[in-house]
Amino acid sequence: MEYVVAIDVGGTDIKSALIDRNLTTISQKVIPTPLSGNTQERILDSLMELVAEYSKIQKVSSVGVSFPGIFDDKNGVCIWSENLILENFHIKDLLENRVQAPIIVKHDVRTAAIAELRNGAAKNTENAIFMSLGTGIAAAIIMNGEICASNGYAGEIGHVNVNGKFACVCGKFGCLEAASSTLAISKAYASLSRTEGVSTEKIHSLVLQGDPIAMGVWRDAMSAIGRACEILVTLLAPEVIVLGGGLSNAKATLLDPVSQYLADSLSFQHRPRVELAHFGSKAGVIGSAIIAFELLPAIEQ
Ligand SMILES: [Zn+2]
Repeated sequence: MEYVVAIDVGGTDIKSALIDRNLTTISQKVIPTPLSGNTQERILDSLMELVAEYSKIQKVSSVGVSFPGIFDDKNGVCIWSENLILENFHIKDLLENRVQAPIIVKHDVRTAAIAELRNGAAKNTENAIFMSLGTGIAAAIIMNGEICASNGYAGEIGHVNVNGKFACVCGKFGCLEAASSTLAISKAYASLSRTEGVSTEKIHSLVLQGDPIAMGVWRDAMSAIGRACEILVTLLAPEVIVLGGGLSNAKATLLDPVSQYLADSLSFQHRPRVELAHFGSKAGVIGSAIIAFELLPAIEQ
């Protein structure tokens, strides 16, 4: 049996796993993403440590990494990530110099979309949208069975103006990401409740308990996601919109209001299915394993 290390670098944490050919997780670990000091070096060190740890359990045949920001999949370069404070980070080359096994590094959302397209909620579709709703927000656009990357710049739905009330990390105002990311939901709740540092998980449980402030914040965030989905549906007519990322842990509290927004707002457009990611917030890790295994036959030839 062959084993790969799959790593999903996010804006908050780094999810990782040792995975076999059947995509079964043998071992897994989550560590916080280094966000201060020399983040470039600290991220590389963290990934090296993870690979070294898994190598003690099984021989690692290859390593697949998914990474956020504007990402050049072909060369494995993070062109820009505001959340990780990185620019022009040649992560694939730098890792190749340090790790013995073959390595592939691709964009996090497009990699998660591969998992959903092959084995998840977008299976057997030709045209689909995968939306990753986490610390940041981005989409993978699947057209005619192919994922559009456009040199890394496609799918940045998080920076579409949805008439939001908040300033965005990109320097603009009113972006989807500034209205509906997990970070944005926490910030909006903090400003209204005057309670700092309440997590999205906690706000979600307050919504379920009927807390009026949490419900108002949640409603605004869901409307902004619905508005963005309406734009995507009108432009791209997907068969399915798959909602993933950390916010998808909210399950029906996410799916129902977004579906309802679309039901109310669409007219002539083709109505897509709206589904939660089959792999939930693990789609990035599973996708990383899939691209790592795809590397193996090419190397063996
Ligand atoms: Zn923005």
